[in-house]
Amino acid sequence: MPQLPSIDEARATLLAVVRPLEPTNVAVNDALGLVLAEDVSAAHDVPAFANSAMDGFAVRAGQAGQRLRISGESRAGAPYDQTIVDGEAVRISTGAALPAGADGVLQIELVELDGDEAVTLTEAVEPGRNVRDPGTDLRAGAVVLRAGTRIGPAELGVAIGAGRQGVLAAPRPRVAIVTTGDELVEAGAPLQPGQIHDSNGPTLAGLAARAGAEVVGRGHAVDDPEATRAVIAEALDVADVLVLAGGVSVGPHDHVKPALTDLGVEELLWRVALRPGKPTWLGHRGDQLVFGLPGNPVSAYVTFLLFARPALNALQGADATVPRTRATLAVAVPRHPDRDECVRVRRRADGSVEPTGPQGSHVLSSLLGAEALAIVPRGEGDLPAGSDVTLEPV
Ligand code: AMP
Ligand code: MG
Repeated sequence: MPQLPSIDEARATLLAVVRPLEPTNVAVNDALGLVLAEDVSAAHDVPAFANSAMDGFAVRAGQAGQRLRISGESRAGAPYDQTIVDGEAVRISTGAALPAGADGVLQIELVELDGDEAVTLTEAVEPGRNVRDPGTDLRAGAVVLRAGTRIGPAELGVAIGAGRQGVLAAPRPRVAIVTTGDELVEAGAPLQPGQIHDSNGPTLAGLAARAGAEVVGRGHAVDDPEATRAVIAEALDVADVLVLAGGVSVGPHDHVKPALTDLGVEELLWRVALRPGKPTWLGHRGDQLVFGLPGNPVSAYVTFLLFARPALNALQGADATVPRTRATLAVAVPRHPDRDECVRVRRRADGSVEPTGPQGSHVLSSLLGAEALAIVPRGEGDLPAGSDVTLEPV
């Protein structure tokens, strides 16, 4: 039998056909979770004006012990509109503009107030004390966010601070999820003999959403060639990416591959030297991507992370892969002779990793508490404790 592609070979084959989606202008307030398609630079210094880091009094430097007349107030949003002269102090709030003539602020705790009239400084005020200078957060013209960055809450705040009302960003890839199998029933439905609850549908939808996609359709096909074809055809009408679970093996009740071929989806590869997830099928129809993931819940989850996630990232113009890290195996792990295995691992206090528990491809609970997939390379016998392994983030 010819050698199956490795995880990374399969990924490379897939990513070679991914064409990023056309970016659009999006109101920055709606951009959370999207990937920037342009660099964002600061339209102006942030802060734009010198302002106070404290509630207190703005004064001219070097007047410790002096009693100063309170000549007014600078509040956030309502600056003091005159120039401070020697002998004067201006009440100031955090974030309020430093009045002209002032060069420092003494916080409220370090002054003695004499009613509303005057204030005595208990410490010297050197120039710049408690002053936030313009541009100390963002410098006018400087690139503050790079194209390819996913906009999280912090990036959103920085883009708005940089003066943006809109940003050029990739749209969310439209993903359809199709489950297959006569045995599947909806969550909560009472189980007749041989039935199981469809966990893959909602779980894969969750993974897709977490990868920045919009789930535009959820379908189910019973194990029948016509039904499978009809559900897939409908999904391909609305989706950039179709994720199928189950039915991609070679059993008499696996109808996904013929249906895809019939609908003009071209096979990129079928089967990867991977456990769990060997029967993974990857294909495309023009720019549409199709993932025929194995039905076993862990296999579906793992292969989504290994293949669908990078493709969704690439469609959005982000780095396809999440950087991998390395760790030491706390215990020996059995190796598969000719497939690389993705072992769900958690971290021990010393930083080493251990399997979360039994690793069967049906043991979905092995993903609970899993901090990564440790890639245990194929080989004979155990990979001994103390070995260095590569971790794919979950
Ligand atoms: P298949 O790839 O269709 O041969 O399915 C492999 C295994 O995964 C079988 O035990 C199925 O019952 C199970 N399975 C398939 N689809 C789902 C699903 N949507 N949710 C949970 N288990 C599934
Ligand atoms: Mg099936």
